[in-house]
Amino acid sequence: LTFLGLESSCDDTAAAVVRMEETGPRILASVVAGQTALHAPYGGVVPEIAARAHAEKLDLCVEEALAEAGVTLADLDGVAVTAGPGLIGGVMSGVMCAKGIAAGAGLPLVGVNHLAGHALTPQLTEGLAFPYLLLLVSGGHCQFLIAHGPEEFTRLGGTIDDAPGEAFDKTAKLLGLPQPGGPAVEAEAMSGDPKAVHFPRPLLDRPGCDMSFSGLKTALLRARDAEVAEHGGLRRQARRDLCAGFQAAVTDVLAEKSRRALREYLAHAPEHPAFAVAGGVAANATIRARLEQVAAEVGATFAAPPLKLCTDNAAMIAYAGIARFETGAQDGMDLSARPRWPLDRSAPAMLGSGK
Ligand code: ATP
Ligand code: FE
Repeated sequence: LTFLGLESSCDDTAAAVVRMEETGPRILASVVAGQTALHAPYGGVVPEIAARAHAEKLDLCVEEALAEAGVTLADLDGVAVTAGPGLIGGVMSGVMCAKGIAAGAGLPLVGVNHLAGHALTPQLTEGLAFPYLLLLVSGGHCQFLIAHGPEEFTRLGGTIDDAPGEAFDKTAKLLGLPQPGGPAVEAEAMSGDPKAVHFPRPLLDRPGCDMSFSGLKTALLRARDAEVAEHGGLRRQARRDLCAGFQAAVTDVLAEKSRRALREYLAHAPEHPAFAVAGGVAANATIRARLEQVAAEVGATFAAPPLKLCTDNAAMIAYAGIARFETGAQDGMDLSARPRWPLDRSAPAMLGSGK
């Protein structure tokens, strides 16, 4: 099976071609066109600008992906597209584009949950088999999920307010660093002292694997204002220390809650000791290293996708589309875009996304 995948739920326009081979899935092409420069003047993603840019760029990304993969529409077995959750205008652009291609080329259309795309990435890139415990940690989400199948997830806990990616982005903004904040804060943190400023470790005193990250922003704001008041500005080293302190707090919380989630998961599935991380924040080296350590402590294997496939891309959508198609699922021309779409059907209304 060879699928074209489309992704346009936030500020990355992406197209990819993935082929299911006997040895496993292979990414034939993965094209990502970011919109960072377009949104930079506004200090955040502007939905209307994003939707227009997606609509303008999707066709080009598709052409590029097909050319890079060395295939034509006739070689495809289906078209997968992110149908939510995300910024509705962008998701609609992608769904319309996918419908056009599917109808024009007579191909099956498969709508994919963006979060399932992230959640299945460790299978695509690391060959991980079901079941496994997943920490999905991205710009809008943070949750522990047991992955049982392509569309079967059980949620063990998650953030009760902000997502860590969002917190990294806000931290960058408050410290005058560029967006996306994650990589910028990580780079600064490298030469900072994580102990110079104290940050809280929210909810560690409470049982279970729910998390909270909004308090970190308050702590950061207070420390920054104190620094500015005392020195008339943000000194270079102070900024590095703030980044390091913030990153260490996020890492500690994720590590401790992962330890608890792993214990709970292993009680259910002792014969499948596998822990994986996915989503944009999984690109953070400090966080990856700590989570790997946590897995090792309980004797679980650890899987993390390559950095480029942690953040938004269409290869994960093409793969999730194939996985869904293989279960016999398919969508019609009435496929609609869903701004909210929790992965776990028993989940409460989605938490933690200001986007
Ligand atoms: P969601 O998937 O929840 O809908 P999204 O698609 O916007 O949200 P992703 O593309 O998965 O999120 O991830 C983007 C987020 O990851 C951003 O908030 C970004 O700051 C963060 N991020 C990227 N690289 C790093 C890094 N090295 N360290 C920390 N955070 C990072
Ligand atoms: Fe994402």
